[in-house]
Amino acid sequence: MFNQTHMNTFTVIFLIALVISYSIQFWLSMRQKSFVLRHREAVPDAFKDTVALDAHQKAADYTVEKGKLGDIDSIISIIFLLILTLGGGISLVFEFWSTFGLSPMYTDLGAVASLILLMTVLEIPSSLYQTFVIEEKYGFNKSTIAQFFKDQIISLSLVIAIGMPVLALILWIMDSIGTLWWLYAWAILMGISLLMSWLFPTVIAPLFNKFTPMEEGSLKDRIQSLLSRCGFNSNGIFIMDGSKRSGHGNAYFTGLGNNKRIVFFDTLIDSLDEEELEAVLAHELGHFKCKHVLKMLAASSVMTLLSFAILGWLITQDWFFSGLGVETHSNAAALLLFTLVSPVFTIFMQPISAYFQRKFEFEADDFASNNAKASKMISGLVKLYEENASTLTPDPLYSAFHYSHPPAAIRIAHLESKM
Ligand SMILES: [Zn+2]
Repeated sequence: MFNQTHMNTFTVIFLIALVISYSIQFWLSMRQKSFVLRHREAVPDAFKDTVALDAHQKAADYTVEKGKLGDIDSIISIIFLLILTLGGGISLVFEFWSTFGLSPMYTDLGAVASLILLMTVLEIPSSLYQTFVIEEKYGFNKSTIAQFFKDQIISLSLVIAIGMPVLALILWIMDSIGTLWWLYAWAILMGISLLMSWLFPTVIAPLFNKFTPMEEGSLKDRIQSLLSRCGFNSNGIFIMDGSKRSGHGNAYFTGLGNNKRIVFFDTLIDSLDEEELEAVLAHELGHFKCKHVLKMLAASSVMTLLSFAILGWLITQDWFFSGLGVETHSNAAALLLFTLVSPVFTIFMQPISAYFQRKFEFEADDFASNNAKASKMISGLVKLYEENASTLTPDPLYSAFHYSHPPAAIRIAHLESKM
């Protein structure tokens, strides 16, 4: 399968990085599953009075099943990555599109679009299994097959309608601007992603869900008084029909500048009491007030700039293409290769970013305890852990590496210290 004549040192480096990064992931996943199963028989002491044993065991089984599916997904990703790169898949797709005699731009766009389509289709069996087997088994799935495919089609249409013109623009910049193309491409991409965040609440999210303004009443009064206490302006408080797809509950706020919205899942409104909802919202406001949104945006824009700069250099190196099994040196192929291969090299960033996200969660919890009741934040969280079947006993290394939120016991101990 491998085209041995073109292998070089970079091929070896890539393969070593691939083995290391997936070994770490499989090892952590194995630790997580066995740690959760070892603690399946008893509810941890901190939750003895609030969580029932059967709920704790349901969370353990759910976590393990999702972990197993994740392992299978990883194996499929490795095979697919190897077929596309060293197996010559990318080269084959570009060669195929070049037989139509289109302009180079359309050839590139056609090749990238067909690879995106292929990846989307390949992910469908796993998503179907996740939704209609695992989620169904644990009572979370509320979606139908028709709804599922409708969602897939809307997502794919968005990728085509927004992603393809953006890609065309970037490819044009790469072709026309010269060696500093990556700086321009970065600036434009940042502008587009800001625009998308601004448009998300009013234009994109409504394609998938219905948003109803919260009715007048004691809950809305309570929320409004929290908002004015915190000096927060928003474009309204909405209830989202999350129950259309799943029983999982959540709350978030989205948007930028004057287009900010607070969104509660209907499932959350049903399961938490008013004071708990107030505390959960105070936590979300904490993220905004502590400038977490801005900090994440700044960090991701620096990372994107760095990536583009590295790509700007790689694109001029023959070994980058030939080492990854690509014969035709095109900008589109380089962009694709870079997107596919860089996660293998950046795995060490994952625990660093997770660490900062958890730090932000503590800060938002502090904000919530100052502006609402810490005891209500705790009882709301316990309900959420229970209803989402999130394990209370994750493996310490796995959670340090992957968790964007502190593990339950640590988070609640922190909130208790604020009471
Ligand atoms: Zn948070």
